[in-house]
Amino acid sequence: MSLSDYSGARQGVSEADYMPIGQLRALQLERLQGLVRHVYERVPLTRRRMDERGVRPEHIRSLEDIALLPFMMKSDLRDEYPFGLFASPQEEIVRFHCSSGTTGKPIVIGSTQGDIRVWQEGCMRALAMCGVTREDVVQVAYGYGLFTGGLGLHYGAEGLGCAVLPISGGNTERQLMLMRDFGVTVIACTPSYFLHLVDEGMKRGIDFRRDMRLRHGVFGAEPWTEAMRGKIEQLTGITAHDIYGLTEISGPGVANDCPHRRGLHVFEDHFYPEIIDPDTLEPLPDGERGELVFTTLTRRGTPMLRYRTRDLSLIHSEPCPCGRTIRTFERISARTDDMLIIRGVNLFPSQIETALLSVDAVLPHYHIFVSKAGDLDMLEIKVEVTAQTLSDDIKSLENLRARIAHAIQRVINISAKVTLAEPHSLPRSEGKLCRVTDLRNG
Ligand code: ADP
Ligand code: ZN
Repeated sequence: MSLSDYSGARQGVSEADYMPIGQLRALQLERLQGLVRHVYERVPLTRRRMDERGVRPEHIRSLEDIALLPFMMKSDLRDEYPFGLFASPQEEIVRFHCSSGTTGKPIVIGSTQGDIRVWQEGCMRALAMCGVTREDVVQVAYGYGLFTGGLGLHYGAEGLGCAVLPISGGNTERQLMLMRDFGVTVIACTPSYFLHLVDEGMKRGIDFRRDMRLRHGVFGAEPWTEAMRGKIEQLTGITAHDIYGLTEISGPGVANDCPHRRGLHVFEDHFYPEIIDPDTLEPLPDGERGELVFTTLTRRGTPMLRYRTRDLSLIHSEPCPCGRTIRTFERISARTDDMLIIRGVNLFPSQIETALLSVDAVLPHYHIFVSKAGDLDMLEIKVEVTAQTLSDDIKSLENLRARIAHAIQRVINISAKVTLAEPHSLPRSEGKLCRVTDLRNG
């Protein structure tokens, strides 16, 4: 059997999770070499950057040689919007997904049939790691649509043969009703949304241990802590698992924690991880903390070479008692940029600026407040208006407020409370201005 024939998930139990290290590294190198050739031939930006460094695909002779390759970043996806980084012709693309860019325009990824299969395999392996089987009824309460959460978990659960309830996010009442009536055993959503469901359930007299058949929660798309995990498990009696992913790399199912909870196992036969120093950009050895970088070894639609996630973590290389040979990284607790995650949706302060600039009578001076109502993230944006506007009657001010709220909703896809502020009332700074007050952690 050739290495490239190495099969992926079968009922979610992938031989690749347990492959002898030497064999895994050989497979990764073979795939990396194929990927670099593919990208060099098809993506002008990468080809130019490699040419500038005098690097050609045949220079990649070992996995360490990956350090010769240029990085990719969110800004590249933005600058090449929409299709500049596509490495397969339109007729081979079967799906688009989007995630927030740093401005009004989203970033776009395209998947081939093969890419969708790999993504599904990642989600199947993640769910299998959580102990999910075809016996389970899975409520997918991540958003469906351009966001990758819903469809990713959907295909993963369906691939395992579970009964899937594709309810998407929102409508708490119906979530709780169907969870109970259908005997749902697995819920997949953001951890904060699940806590919100639990809270709302308790208000209605629902006891999760007594009234629900729920056993597992597959939680991700936003940072959460061990304390939050403890709270969820103690309140509901379920096992709370951590699933990680990002749109640029395919979506959820890039990594997941096993029952030993020694970090998240990366499906590194497809998603090759590195940790770099975010300042010097030098690769760091396993065990040192830095920025997580991924190379999508098998993606062909929009493959990513050394994509800088901005997530901070460290890679463990000690073997995990579960027997998997694929490495783990520590749970993500911080990022190197100003991206906020509100109800699982990414938000950059600059997107607010883009929205405000589309409304007259508003100055692009704003401040973002993030807080929690129960367990749900709440967003409030204070916006300065011009002195002249402030002299308008209440009705026109209300009208302006509504227009701003609408503009923001259009750009970021989440609703925010908008309050108007007097000119010059919000802080100014010569240096790095902090536009965000995040009251969620303490
Ligand atoms: P997703 O659909 O997973 O939210 P996005 O591309 O919208 O994908 O957002 C990706 C970002 O979300 C990651 O770079 C990371 O910052 C955050 N994220 C995703 N999953 C987790 C997780 N399990 N723990 C912490 N942060 C996460
Ligand atoms: Zn393990």
